[in-house]
Amino acid sequence: MIKFNRPFIAGKELYYISQAVMKYSHISGDGEFTRKCQRWFEETLGCKKALLTHSCTAALEMAALLCDIRPGDEVIMPSFTFVSTANAFVLRGATPVFVDIRPDTLNIDEKLLASAVTEKTRAVVPVHYAGVPCDMDTILEVARDKGLFVIEDAAQALLSKDETGFAGARGDFGCVSFHETKNIISGEGGALFVNNEQFIERAEIIREKGTNRSKFFRGEVDKYTWVDVGSSFLPSDIIAAFLYAQLEHAEEIVTRRKELLISYREKLEDLECRGMCQLPARETLESSSGHIFYLLCRSLEDRDALLAFLKQRGIGGVFHYVPLHDSPFGKQVCRVHGTMKETLRAAGSLLRLPLYYEMTDEEQDRCVEAVYEFYQDK
Ligand SMILES: *Cc1c(COP(=O)(O)O)cnc(C)c1O
Repeated sequence: MIKFNRPFIAGKELYYISQAVMKYSHISGDGEFTRKCQRWFEETLGCKKALLTHSCTAALEMAALLCDIRPGDEVIMPSFTFVSTANAFVLRGATPVFVDIRPDTLNIDEKLLASAVTEKTRAVVPVHYAGVPCDMDTILEVARDKGLFVIEDAAQALLSKDETGFAGARGDFGCVSFHETKNIISGEGGALFVNNEQFIERAEIIREKGTNRSKFFRGEVDKYTWVDVGSSFLPSDIIAAFLYAQLEHAEEIVTRRKELLISYREKLEDLECRGMCQLPARETLESSSGHIFYLLCRSLEDRDALLAFLKQRGIGGVFHYVPLHDSPFGKQVCRVHGTMKETLRAAGSLLRLPLYYEMTDEEQDRCVEAVYEFYQDK
C-alpha cells in the first residue's frame, strides 16, 4: 500500500513543545518559538515581516482586511484553486473574478490579467499551483500599472524560487500553509508575509484582535487598547514549536521532494511521448517546492479509470479541483472573465500521484510501473 501522502516528523517537534511548556512557560501566541519561526522566514525568504497565523486561510483573510476590501470590489484570481483563495474576499463582500490558467503550469494566465481589470478591481491573487511560481514579473507590472494589490497564495509554495525571488515574498502580501497535507507542517498552521512595509504595523494590530498589544510588549506604548478592526489570528506557541522543528529541515524536505518530482517526470516521459498524458513542463520543476506531481490524462474517463486502477494496486492517487466557478457557491458570488477552457481541461483530466518526503525510489518505481501497466494496451 502506497499512501498518497505521509506527514513527515523531523524529530525535535515534541522536544520543542516541551521547551515551550516547561522552559519558556509560554503557550499562548507570540512566544519564543513564534519569534524563531518568524525570524527564519524573514532571513530565509527576505520577506519584510512574517507573522504566524492559524492557517493560510487566516493569512488570506488578514490580507483582505489589510487591503480594505469592501462590498462591490472585485478581486482577480484563478478558478482552479482551493476555496480559501476566494472565501477570504467573499467574506468582505467582494466578487472574485476568475481568469483562465496556463496550460503548462496551471497557474493564472498573466496575459489575460489586464483585460479582466475594471474600475472595481482592487487586487489580484496569483496562486503558485503545485509549488511552481507564477510569472510574478508580469503580474506585478500589471498590478502597478492598474493600482492593484498583489496577494500571493503561496500555500503550496514555501521555498519555491525562480530567478526573480522566492514565492510569497514579492507581492504586497504572501500567504503560506503548514497544513498536514503540505510540505512543511504543524497540523494546522500558516503565515502571512507582509512585503509592503506600509502594512506591517496594521497587520500586527489586526492579528491581535484590533489592539496595539504588540507595541505594548515592545514598550512602544504604555497601555494597550482597541485601535482598529481585528480578530484572533495568532497560533499558540505550541504550534510554533512544532513548526520550528520542521523549518530546521525545510531545505532538505523541499530538495528531496523536488528530486522525486523530476524523477517522476523522467520515468513517465515515454507515456507523454506516446501521447497518453501530459506532464508538468520540465523547465518549471527546478523552481518548484516539489509539492505536487500531476499528470493530465487524455479524458475524464481515462483519469477515473486510472485512479480506480491505482486504487486496486494499493496506490493512493487523488484529483482536484472542482473549479470554483462551477461550484454551487461560486456560481452565486463569483464572476468569470473569458473562457475557462484550460481550467476545465485540468479539472477534468488531472491526477496527482503519491509524493512525500520519505518516499523511497522503490515506492516511486511501483507507482510508475502501475501507471505503465494501465496504459500498456491503450
Ligand atoms: C492548502 C491551501 C490553502 C489553505 O491552507 P490552510 O492552511 O489549510 O488554510 C489555500 N490555498 C491553497 C492554494 C492551498 O493549497
